[in-house]
Amino acid sequence: MRTTQFPLNTVKETPADAEIISHQLMIRAGLIRKLAAGLYSWLPLGLRVLRKVEKITRDEMEKAGALEVLMPTLQPAELWQETGRWEQYGPELARLKDRHDRDFCLGPTHEEIITDLARNELKSYKQLPITFYQIQTKIRDEIRPRFGVMRSREFIMKDAYSFHLDQASLQESYEVMYRAYSNIFNHLGLKFRAVIADSGSIGGAISHEFHVLADSGEDAIAFSSASDYAANVEKAEALAPTGERPAASTPMVLVDTPAQHSIEEVCTFLTIAPTQCLKTLIVKGEEEGLVALLLRGDHELNKIKAEKLAGVAAPLTFASEADIIAACACKPGSIGPIGLTMPIIADRSIALMADFVCGANQDGKHYQGVNWGRDLPLPELADLRTVVEGDPSPDGQGHITLARGIEVGHIFQLGTKYSGAMKAGIINEAGKHQIMLMGCYGIGISRVVAAAIEQNHDGRGIIWPTNLAPFQVALLPMNMHKSERLKALAEQLYQDLQAAGIDVLFDDRKVRAGFMFSDMELIGIPHCIIVGDKSLDNGTVEYKARTSRDNEELPLTDVLAFLQ
Ligand code: ATP
Ligand code: MG
Ligand code: MG
Ligand code: MG
Repeated sequence: MRTTQFPLNTVKETPADAEIISHQLMIRAGLIRKLAAGLYSWLPLGLRVLRKVEKITRDEMEKAGALEVLMPTLQPAELWQETGRWEQYGPELARLKDRHDRDFCLGPTHEEIITDLARNELKSYKQLPITFYQIQTKIRDEIRPRFGVMRSREFIMKDAYSFHLDQASLQESYEVMYRAYSNIFNHLGLKFRAVIADSGSIGGAISHEFHVLADSGEDAIAFSSASDYAANVEKAEALAPTGERPAASTPMVLVDTPAQHSIEEVCTFLTIAPTQCLKTLIVKGEEEGLVALLLRGDHELNKIKAEKLAGVAAPLTFASEADIIAACACKPGSIGPIGLTMPIIADRSIALMADFVCGANQDGKHYQGVNWGRDLPLPELADLRTVVEGDPSPDGQGHITLARGIEVGHIFQLGTKYSGAMKAGIINEAGKHQIMLMGCYGIGISRVVAAAIEQNHDGRGIIWPTNLAPFQVALLPMNMHKSERLKALAEQLYQDLQAAGIDVLFDDRKVRAGFMFSDMELIGIPHCIIVGDKSLDNGTVEYKARTSRDNEELPLTDVLAFLQ
């Protein structure tokens, strides 16, 4: 490809709303452009990377024996009503009506649709086990879309669903997928960990999340210092031994934190030590006859949860974000825990928004967002625990260390959760109708691109892992437009590289050398071949790896062999 025919859309300015480096670099390198909050277009350069993630994922799915399908984004409400999720899902589900006033939604995930397909298409136990997958656009009306394609409202997911006669078969396919996921993230060249996740459904259900390790990750993961134990903090908390707990009759105040605030801010307000957070909040609450819990996110969802909690600890009153804004006379978006909580505590009213926040990471910077998902049973008050660095590992071996991760994949043994509700069965060997068991397996294809950048960048731009790079080699001629001989040499090398099957970007623009270099560093091409006067005089080129600061001189005749 030539840059005169494949324009690079690099920009100098960092957009004001780009809080994390991957978002900034994706805009600056010209990979994506914002359409509206949480909605992005992929430019040609970005799409090349996205397609690489897709291809590596698709290849592993095929190797794992999964069959590709493609299901609609627009989905009739009836299927979601069958499983009860039409009511349960909350405002993240984008709902709409068609011209006949019938209810539809835009699929955030496809369990209902695949289960409907399977109950119609699968008839006999002989067809099992079977795994279907698709790579398709998902819509989630995220309460706070942010970080570019990391948490967007429309994104590409690879979602797979398996169907089984029994638990042993589900377990087997689950392990196949677990290995396929590990292969995918290894091929992508990412540092990742698979961690035990809280399934949140019927007890005993098994689930793992795959996290790309990055300091900016929204999730906290807990590792044992002495064993392979790794869990997301939510799960580690669920397993943590219970200690002191407040009496069930303790009055309770829930404090709204509409955005992520530094733990110092909240602790200053509550006059507690930053490392103590929830435990201390409970202790302090007991002293004062109050328990403070920090919540953020979706109001409606948590109102339901809090109503249940009210049965545990009273008294509670409810306030919407709008109520708080009115009560505190502050502007939407400007409310923080300090300005906000004071009148709320005084009133003993609560504000409820989405995820449950119950802890601080060790460096005390942010709360851990602990997601009591829609289908999670409400935690007992005694279960509201936080895991901190140095706690004993739940497996009894060593101590907990914490790290930040970006959830890029999630695999799950669903059992009969959907197949039962939708009566998806087959005829078994005994000739009887039997409900199938299911597994489901997701990878956030578009999020992977952002996560890869979050993990691989420097002050000059992106450093793509080889298998993700939009081009492998940049061919950079110096002042080619002033020398016919150099032009001929560069053109020849371009042909030779292409003929050797090397994915090369030939910078044939009439631009300064410094401009070329900074563009190639920003967009993260792993290898640069620089041709100039020396190439004509001595038959050498300069080679520079994106990961190194220094250039190497290579004989022109060695270039192909060197790059292959
Ligand atoms: P999160 O906890 O980050 O909200 P999730 O647990 O809701 O993610 P899943 O339902 O497990 O997500 O979906 C499978 C995968 O889809 C996730 O592991 C993640 O990689 C990706 N994903 C989920 N939500 C988004 C989003 N809003 N934007 C981009 N990718 C997403
Ligand atoms: Mg989510
Ligand atoms: Mg999650
Ligand atoms: Mg998940």
